[in-house]
Order: sequence, then structure tokens, then C-alpha cells
Amino acid sequence: MKKQKLDLLAFRILMSVLLCIALIGAMLYYSNTLSNELYENSVNTLTEISAQNVDILKTKIDAQTDSLAEVAARIAVPTDWDIAYTTYTLNQVMKRYTFKSMGIVLPNGEAYLTNGAQVKISGESWDFMQGVFDGETIISNRAEGLDGDSIITVMVPVNKAGEVIAILMATSTTESIQEILDVSFFNGQGYSYIVRSDGRIITSSTFPTSFKDISNIFDALTEADASNAAACEQMKHDMQFREDSYIQYKNGTNYYMSYSEIGINDWYLLSVIPVSVIDSTRNGIMASTYLLCSVIIIVFVLIITYFIRVERKKRMELQDILYVDPITKGYSYQRFCKEAREKLDSDKRNAAVVVLDIEKFKVINELFGYEDGDKVLVYIWSLIKNWVKPDEIYSRRNADIYSMLIFYDSEQELAERVYSLAELIQNDRLEKRKGFVIRPAIGIYRVENRELDVQSMQNYASIAKNKIKGNASGNCVAYYDDSYKETILENKSLEDRMIAGLKNEEFTVFYQPKYDAVTQELSGAEALIRWKNADGTYTPPYKFIPIAEKNGFVLKLDKYVFRKVCEDQKRRLEEGKKVVPVSVNLSRQHLYNSAFIEDYRKMVEARNIPINLVELEVTESAMFENQDEFMSIIDRLHKIGFKILMDDFGTGYSSLMMLKSIPIDVMKLDKSFVDDFNDEKGEKIISCVTQLAKSMHIEVTAEGVETEEQYQFMKKLGCDNIQGFYFAKPMPMEDFDKLL
Ligand code: C2E
Ligand code: MG
Ligand code: MG
Repeated sequence: MKKQKLDLLAFRILMSVLLCIALIGAMLYYSNTLSNELYENSVNTLTEISAQNVDILKTKIDAQTDSLAEVAARIAVPTDWDIAYTTYTLNQVMKRYTFKSMGIVLPNGEAYLTNGAQVKISGESWDFMQGVFDGETIISNRAEGLDGDSIITVMVPVNKAGEVIAILMATSTTESIQEILDVSFFNGQGYSYIVRSDGRIITSSTFPTSFKDISNIFDALTEADASNAAACEQMKHDMQFREDSYIQYKNGTNYYMSYSEIGINDWYLLSVIPVSVIDSTRNGIMASTYLLCSVIIIVFVLIITYFIRVERKKRMELQDILYVDPITKGYSYQRFCKEAREKLDSDKRNAAVVVLDIEKFKVINELFGYEDGDKVLVYIWSLIKNWVKPDEIYSRRNADIYSMLIFYDSEQELAERVYSLAELIQNDRLEKRKGFVIRPAIGIYRVENRELDVQSMQNYASIAKNKIKGNASGNCVAYYDDSYKETILENKSLEDRMIAGLKNEEFTVFYQPKYDAVTQELSGAEALIRWKNADGTYTPPYKFIPIAEKNGFVLKLDKYVFRKVCEDQKRRLEEGKKVVPVSVNLSRQHLYNSAFIEDYRKMVEARNIPINLVELEVTESAMFENQDEFMSIIDRLHKIGFKILMDDFGTGYSSLMMLKSIPIDVMKLDKSFVDDFNDEKGEKIISCVTQLAKSMHIEVTAEGVETEEQYQFMKKLGCDNIQGFYFAKPMPMEDFDKLL
């Protein structure tokens, strides 16, 4: 049971841990995916921005070439080609554009510039320009102007009548192109270069962290950090095959550089952004994500801990219910067993298990009420609490039974201690109980076999206690010894045999005649049960009736006797014999269940015999146990017509006053009264009781009359009937029938 509980707990903890791991795993996977996605996203943004920059650049340059083409058309209009007019016009145009200078180149290589200079173009530059005479627009690579500035030149053809008559050219400084690119991106942290596919710089950047005074980006990268070599190679390779992509490089810190083909010459636009910028956005989002994940995990863990705690609390409460006796608030029996086991294992002194039972506790409950009954239970518990030594264990076991585990050095000490407890309880008179003496019945089991479970030790102590329980006057302490066990086994086998015996009709009814005291005529009989053994002998009722009373079997036996008597009476009536009333014993067990009344009535009715032919004997102890119920049952039996006999009068707790309140028809004086006949005091008592009964119209029958003297004496006192060996012993039905 305990192991099962542990397993369940372990399983739950394991499941919670697994769930936690799964949750953390899922969170990690999610955050990792998110991180990758964010990274890709940032890099894509970088390439997108780069592409946008390319667009902006191209649009601007296209606008410039378009403007130039317009100017070219304008200067071609006059019929006479006038250089002076043309340069004048160009100077006017210059004011509207951001060109550094403009000029016109004639097919003979002569060039007229807006600053008034006239130069002859030849060699490489002249070759480079030839395409324009074929109608193309050409943009030069970076070159050094006459004044040492880095410039770029745009050249467009001047057409007249389908013929290129000159080249219109305009130069811009690289700075002015650079300005176009200085559109801030990534919050002003990104910047651009324009380079040729072999890395040569077209325009550089003025951004503080950019490479300064460089002529080739590849050289700049490899010079900045040796670790950039591979990235550099990749970029070179990509640009050679005209592919757009990005690299990561180091120049102090790490940067991303994306490269996109511009579509002018072999130019590439490079967009640079520090890795930290991209990562900071990513890190920010990731930090929030991790925070969120942590919060979720913490909440999850908190919820699980909460549930585990609630569960634990519930278990503790359950344990409380299990471990605390609700009445005394002391140890429950379960707790007692647990603690006693541990104590027995750890303490090797002589130990004894003591069971204490309160005699007639039921009566206390009935006389004083259950609430007071509970108070008595708590009070006795407190007496025991004060009596035990600090390291001994005690509890109320159930109802009015207490268990203790005590230790002792000598037999004498054990006996003295237990008797002192009995005395303590007996001597205690609570004012409320007005002198009612609480009598304990105590059973002791000296622990011989420590391996034995505590319950069995208790059972042994209980066996000893049960032996003496109910001895009104005898000893109130008993020790368990093995012979008890034999008795119990014997009783157990008797119990088993009894049940079979009833089926096998081993039980028979004997009749003991009753005689009229005056006429000495047969006036009635008592039915007494006998158990016939296989060898023809009989087991007397005192051996099996007490056992049958404990297990309730007596109800069946009584019914069996009653039915038998009814049948016998019916037969006698049918046979025309003399028929006298026969009394049948009614065990006190019937008082706990009045259902028998109907059964008995039906048994008589079914055989159609006069109701006065069967009488019922009850004992006074039965009445004492439950007076109200007793009265109501007698009342109902009377209503049916049964005569009620009070059996064994004088042995129980009855008082003469009680006679007044109980509606009985016959009083059977117990044999002990009859035996007292030659004692003067006894004589007076018997005479007094008989007189009292007579005065209340109660018939008196003397039981156990054995001698002539006893008979004469009882007759003299006015007893109505005599039952005893003097006249006849109980006899089998056949013999009684003969007598009739
Ligand atoms: P009881 O009802 O008081 O029955 C009278 C007992 O006294 C009988 O004992 C009877 O044999 C005995 N007796 C009668 N005259 C004399 C005498 O002169 N001298 C002596 N020494 N004894 C005499 P028995 O049959 O052994 O029954 C004992 C008790 O067993 C009965 O006492 C009754 O309480 C119980 N009992 C017997 N049969 C039944 C039964 O069918 N149902 C129940 N519930 N109890 C029964
Ligand atoms: Mg009787
Ligand atoms: Mg009797």
C-alpha cells in the first residue's frame, strides 16, 4: 500500500519533470527557429536595402543622362555649328545642374569645356569615347580631373540629321554621387560603396567606421583582418560571376557587407552594416522571447508545485484523519500500531501489550447519554495518559477499548502497574455519575515474539481480556497464555460444528415439567435445548449457548426450539393428549432486533394452537441492557397474547422496585434463592420477594428445587409452581409425552 503510494508519487514527479523538459525543449526549439528567422530576415532586409539603393542610384544617373540628352538636342538645333554659342549655352545649363563641368568633343578630338579650356583628346580616352559616336551613352569609371578631383564623366551623342556631330560630356565628382548614396539606413548605422567587379573603388564612404583612402575593397578587407580572406574570396568569385550576395567581415568589430550589381559598367553597390546592429534587434526580440519562455516555464513549475502541495496537504489531512482519534484527539489505533511497531523494533526491554475495556459501557451511554459517554471515554484516556511512562504508547482503539504498549523489568512490576491502573479507574467517581463505578477489564500480552505484528499482539491481549469480561465480581486483570488460544480454537470448531449441527438435526428439545405447588399436578414445562453427539451423549447448553450468543447463532437455535415446541403442542392436541403450557427461552440477542416477534406470531398462528400453550422466558440482564426497547418488545408480545416469564430472577441487576415497572406474568426464582432457604436472612428475602410478586399478581415459580425440604418451604411461602429435579429432570420429548 505504502509502496504503491510511493510509486504513484514518483510517477507524478517523473511526469512533471518530463513535461518540464519537454516544455523547455519546445521553447528552445522555438527560440532557435525564431532566432534563425530573425537573422535571415535582417540579412534579407540588408539585401533589400542594397537593391533599393541601386534603384535610387540608377534613377538619378538615368535622370542625368536624360537631361544631358535633352541639352544635346538643344545645342544641335541652330543651323550653323557655333562652338562659342554652344559653350555659352552649356554654361547657362550648368547653373541648373550639379555637374562639375561640361564640354563638347568634336569628331576631330577637339574638346571645348565650360571653363573656357580647349583640349585635344587622344589615346586611351579617345578610344573609350568612340562608342558615343556610334550613338551610345557612356559613363566613365573613376578618373582624376585636371584639378586632381576624382570625377566621373557621362557622355551622350549630339545628333543632327541622323549623324553624330559631337559628344556632349558632363563630369561629376565622386563625392556628389556618394551623396546620393548617403541615404541613411538601419537607423543611420549602414553605409555604402560603389566598386568595380575587380574591387576598385568608384565611390567611397565618409561614414566614420568606413575604410578611408582605399583604392580596392578587396585589399582593404584583407588588410583589415587576415580572417576576412575567405569572405573576400567568396565575394570576388560572386562578383566575377555577377551574383549578388553578402559576406561577414571583421574590421575591429564584425560587419555584414552585401553586394548588388548596379547595371552600370561593372559596378557593384556594397552596403555595410555592423553585425551588432542586426543582432541587437535580434537579441532584443530574443531576450523578450527568452523572458517570455522563462515566465511560462516558471508559471508552469509554480502550477505543478502548487498541485503537488495541494496533493500533499490533502494527504496530510487524510493522515490526520487516519492518525488522530476523533474523540480523544490522541493517537488513533493505526497510529498506535505504527508507533508501537517502531518502538518494539528499537527498544529491547520487556514489553507488554495491554488492552483495557470498560465493563457495561453501553449502560453508561444509555443512562447518561452519548455525549457524557464520550466525556467518560476522554476522561479514561486522560487517566491512562497520566499513568503511562513518557516513552510508552497508548491509544483508544475503538468504542470503549484502549490499547497500550508498556515496558517492565520484572513480572511483579508489570502486575503492580496494571493493577494500579485498574484501581485508578475503579476508584474514580465523577460527580456526575453519582457513584457509578467504572470497572475495567484488562488483558495483558507479554511480548515474547517481537516479530509478531502489533495487531496480533492486541488480539492476544483481547483474548485474555474477553476471558474475564463480564465477571461482575471476579478479577479484572488477565494474562494471555497459549491455552487461551486452544479454547478459542475449540470454540471456533464448536461454532463451525454448530451451524452444520442445526442442518443435520443434531439439536433436540428436552422438556422439564413444572408442577402445581399445592396439588402437585403437572402444570407446565420448560423447553431446554440439547445437542446430541454422535456417541449418543449430549453437550449441555452452558457449553454452546454463550458462543451462540456471541455469534448470533442463538437466534436460529431459539427459533428452532420454538418451532419444535409449537409442532409438538399441535401434535399433542391432535392426538387428544393432555396439553400444558410450555415455556421457551428467549435469548437477550432478540432485543437488538424485534423482527422475531412477527416470526413467532406466525409460527403459532400457522399451527392454529392456542397462544397460551407457548410461553416466553426472558432474563433480567436483557432488560437492564436496553430498558426502553425491552419494554416495547414485552408490550408487543403481550398484545399477541404471549405470557412472559422472568427467568433467573435474583441473579442480575434487578431490584425489587424494578418489578413494579416491568409487566411480567411469571417470576422464576433462581436456584440460588432456593438454595438459601435454610438461612434466616435468605428466607426473609425470598418471602419478601414472593409477597411483593403476589401483591402485583405475578405468579411465582421456584426453579432448581431438589429436595422435599425445599419444596415444602417454597410451598409454604406461596410459590405457585415448582420446577426442579425433586419432581423431574429435563427429559426427551417421548418421555414427557408419556408423562402427559
Ligand atoms: P434456565 O432457562 O434457567 O433453565 C433451567 C436450567 O436449570 C436447566 O439447565 C435445567 O436443567 C436446570 N435445572 C432445573 N432444575 C434443576 C435442579 O433441581 N437442580 C439443578 N442443578 N439444575 C436444575 P440447562 O438445561 O442446562 O440449561 C441451562 C441454561 O441454558 C438455561 O437456564 C437457559 O438459560 C439456557 N438454555 C437452555 N435452552 C435454551 C434455549 O433453547 N435457548 C436459550 N436462549 N437458552 C437456553
Ligand atoms: Mg429458562
Ligand atoms: Mg432459569
